[in-house]
Amino acid sequence: KNSVHRICSGQVVLSLAIAVKELVENSLDAGATVIEVRLKEYGSELIEVSDNGSGVHPDNFQGLTLKHHTSKLKEFSDIMCVETFGFRGEALSSLCALSDLSVITRHDSQSCGTRLVFDHDGHITEKSQCARQVGTTIIISNLFSTLPVRHKEFHRNLKREFNKMTQLLYAYCLVSTGVKINCINQTKRGGRSTFVSTQGSNNVKENIACVFGRKQLSSLLDFKKKSPTNDVLEELKLDIDAEKMFELEGYISTCKHGEGRSSNDRQFYFINSRPCEPSKVIRAVNEVYHQFNMHQSPFVYLNIYVARDSVDVNVTPDKRQIFLDQEKLLIAIIKVHNVFQMDIIGQ
Ligand code: ADP
Ligand code: MG
Repeated sequence: KNSVHRICSGQVVLSLAIAVKELVENSLDAGATVIEVRLKEYGSELIEVSDNGSGVHPDNFQGLTLKHHTSKLKEFSDIMCVETFGFRGEALSSLCALSDLSVITRHDSQSCGTRLVFDHDGHITEKSQCARQVGTTIIISNLFSTLPVRHKEFHRNLKREFNKMTQLLYAYCLVSTGVKINCINQTKRGGRSTFVSTQGSNNVKENIACVFGRKQLSSLLDFKKKSPTNDVLEELKLDIDAEKMFELEGYISTCKHGEGRSSNDRQFYFINSRPCEPSKVIRAVNEVYHQFNMHQSPFVYLNIYVARDSVDVNVTPDKRQIFLDQEKLLIAIIKVHNVFQMDIIGQ
């Protein structure tokens, strides 16, 4: 039974990037405005995510790591309109099975904190009182130690896994306005270094400046709220339900001065502010861009807003692939109507 649980958990938490993503999402779901991600040896020794969110209520301590236990869905029908990042109740249960997990938390109804240690089956093995501000710290050590092959692979590709995780953290840092995020890695050789941080600004542009430097802002074209109008739909001969429409919001670099990049590692896509990889949309954006700028890849920050009931985030366990009702239309609009006003680019 335990080995089945471990293997299944390995399918939920596939990588360091997903482990860290799940913890940061939990902090955001808990309403945190300050999040600190602390790693030791690129996450192989320790991953610690601390927040100033709501904390965990004592009634929910054991529920933290119960499979399919989530505090986030009120009714089953809610799954049609997911607004929190989490809703499956699989992440902490899986992380328990794959690593050594402990939690320090103080709920806002409590006067002091509690430290909890869990075993690989998700049972609490230690419980003690401690000092803590309201909020939660999740501590994971020895990620994947219960899956020897994965563990070996992880250690062999540590830098690459770390880079993938950093890339994913960028997306959360950019989209999380009003949240101060600081990520630190500590190594025996290199000391302590901050690898991503934001200042809790209320606008995405400031977050872009924090993450990639102010220079990144200089070539950005703003395509805020360019929702397709009825004229556009008629022009495209599309007969669709206006209720199911979407809006696009974001920034794309114009790279007029040839300072563009040749790889698309600075492209970030969101559906209703949830970071994701809508591969067809990504391809369409780059195709359009390349018509104007042959050898470069733009910086892209694209948030696609759609009606909650026309998006299904339940497609893959990591929630990175998302099913969009109106994907074809969206792509047609990106390609035909040139929503980003690409003609400005390259002038
Ligand atoms: P999900 O996010 O899908 O609900 P998780 O396994 O990620 O499932 O988390 C399980 C539960 O633990 C959450 O529903 C939430 O109640 C609680 N939890 C996890 N992390 C935090 C946190 N940082 N702050 C407050 N509660 C948390
Ligand atoms: Mg979660």
